[in-house]
Amino acid sequence: MRIGVLGCAGRMGRAVIDEVLAAEGCTLVGGVDRDDHPTLGQDLGLLVGQSPLGVLVGTDAAALIESADVVIEFSASAATVAHAALAAASGTGHVIGTTGLNAEQDQAVCDAAHRTAIMRAANMSLGVNLLLGLTEQVARALGPDAYDIEILELHHRHKVDAPSGTALALGEAAARGRGVDLSEMADRGRDGMTGARKSGAIGFAALRGGDVVGDHVVIFAGAGERVELAHRATDRRIYARGAVAAARWLHGRPAGLYGMADVLGLTGARP
Ligand code: NAD
Repeated sequence: MRIGVLGCAGRMGRAVIDEVLAAEGCTLVGGVDRDDHPTLGQDLGLLVGQSPLGVLVGTDAAALIESADVVIEFSASAATVAHAALAAASGTGHVIGTTGLNAEQDQAVCDAAHRTAIMRAANMSLGVNLLLGLTEQVARALGPDAYDIEILELHHRHKVDAPSGTALALGEAAARGRGVDLSEMADRGRDGMTGARKSGAIGFAALRGGDVVGDHVVIFAGAGERVELAHRATDRRIYARGAVAAARWLHGRPAGLYGMADVLGLTGARP
């Protein structure tokens, strides 16, 4: 399977290159990044501390997408939308890990999925996908009134969107469990005289610092007790491994928008 990497010089892009090089039956056909990125023209093997591959960091996303069976992308939201349209035009499978897409960008990805197979997940780790299923189950079991749901996330200082896509996916899972709509119940930032907690709210708190790969805690706070479900990522290779597994799964599938639950064969978790 021929795999291309979009956003190849980023933290996740480099981890994906490593995984593709180690994956049996996969060939790295190229990588692209921004046209002002300092690594432009560097060898992709050297970029990740391995032997030279003779494949360089480029900028021609259209040509890369055309030449690949599947492209894996962890980049920026606007770039991801443009690349989804190119993937749709050439029928190339597209694995999307980028988060922070707005509603309009989300819709553009859904439109592209009418023409090619797209797998999109805010989090590609097995552990987080289990956490999504558990969050939905616990929210359903505890009911809407007695326990308040708060979602806490902590990420490295470079992360540009908040709350994280994973925190929002956990919020969606909790809302599904409660049978409510997250857009009506989300409380995404508290500061100053906020007044008492709104009944039924699903709260979010985002912390940033250091090199934290990604921590998520879902707190169900009741009278006299708390239930906490937590996942802590210590190595971003878990996401890269999930992305390569997703690429293998996606190859040859009909057009459509798939999630990590489909790849992992899990039910009840929709990242
Ligand atoms: P990063 O900033 O290290 O890397 C992003 C890369 O994309 C950079 O090299 C940047 O130059 C490149 N890029 C930007 N615009 C581009 C364009 N037009 N064309 C090509 N490349 C372009 O960030 P990161 O930590 O690697 O994260 C990237 C994204 O992946 C973020 O949205 C993050 O939230 C998400 N992420 C998702 C998961 C998951 O499991 N789904 C895991 C980790 C990170």
